[in-house]
Amino acid sequence: MPGLDVFEEANRQLIICNACRYCEGYCPVFRAIETRRDFQRGDVFYLSNLCHDCRACYYACMYTPPHEFAINIPKILAEARIETYERFSWPGFLGRAFKHRGVTVFLAAAAIAVVTILSLALIPPGTLFAAHLGPGAFYEVVPYFAMVAGGLILFFYGIAVWLRGGAQFWSETRSALQQPGGFKAFAAAAGAALGLRYLKGGGPGCFYPGERPSAARRVYHSLTFWGLVLDFISTTLAFIYQDFLHLLPPYALGSAPVIFGAVGGVALILGTGGLLWFKMKSDPDPAGVGAPGMDYVFLVALGMVALTGMFTLVLRETSAMGSLLVLHLAFIAALFLTAPYGKFVHAVYRTLAVIRYEGEQGQAHPSSHP
Ligand code: SF4
Ligand code: SF4
Repeated sequence: MPGLDVFEEANRQLIICNACRYCEGYCPVFRAIETRRDFQRGDVFYLSNLCHDCRACYYACMYTPPHEFAINIPKILAEARIETYERFSWPGFLGRAFKHRGVTVFLAAAAIAVVTILSLALIPPGTLFAAHLGPGAFYEVVPYFAMVAGGLILFFYGIAVWLRGGAQFWSETRSALQQPGGFKAFAAAAGAALGLRYLKGGGPGCFYPGERPSAARRVYHSLTFWGLVLDFISTTLAFIYQDFLHLLPPYALGSAPVIFGAVGGVALILGTGGLLWFKMKSDPDPAGVGAPGMDYVFLVALGMVALTGMFTLVLRETSAMGSLLVLHLAFIAALFLTAPYGKFVHAVYRTLAVIRYEGEQGQAHPSSHP
């Protein structure tokens, strides 16, 4: 409704949904609203991050515009999510990245430019554009210390921002209705998150890219999620090989780090590619203002990390390895620098919202809850 801010508008729509309850079988959001009579700011933060944007309720609703009730739950909850991300971001001025794609693009471009310029300035052309073979070949181009120090600084910076935001979110979404729920709630939430249970959109799948449900979004999301997990395992194994077994990379094609990394890389390319295609094709009416821009930057950066990683693997014995390695590190820097100010944050707030939900449902239905 014109004149209402995001929280007032979410409150208005959720009160109508609570009277209607037609969509209560679709997702946890509708089961969670049944325990509330009106919706404070903390409730809206919580419910908006419980929403998985499957859009089932939008296509089922008989009160969407042009009806005078003007109900559009996926859109208003997407806009409330952006408010969450911005509010719990640190430093505050970088929180603007969630509403203005230009800020995220600038951060990503700055990271890529810094890594590229430093590499061109510090690595002699005869080294950068030559073939390097045998153990330690990558470190002949970029020294181990430079590679690890840059990555770890950005990695721990992102983790610190997430932890700070997650703690604030947890505190502000607490209400008399919501108790932590203990280990049981945490285990149930972990199962839901790992299996992407709520991306089933009430059963048949999410309504992407159009009005028909399908499992495709869940498949692309799973490929992206498990691709990241496999690549993390690959990096951890490479660390063990190098620092405990004293075996320097590159490793044989049949070795565990390469197998995990390659399978993860292919999964990431397919997953991010599919999600990007969905973004471009999907119905804009249920999308929140500003949200798609943030999603594009994240998916492109993640997809490019996977793509340049795969090219580096395939061409590692050629003279292209040096420039591909630098490009790969530049995209990793862009991904890490934008991670606290882009779509990555949804993993933090959504997981916390699902833990809250599982705890709340466990209290509301102690005998039926797993
Ligand atoms: S989205 Fe529409 S149909 Fe679904 S509960 Fe709300 S008002 Fe009812
Ligand atoms: S878009 Fe999907 S997840 Fe979000 S409130 Fe509607 S049915 Fe629930």
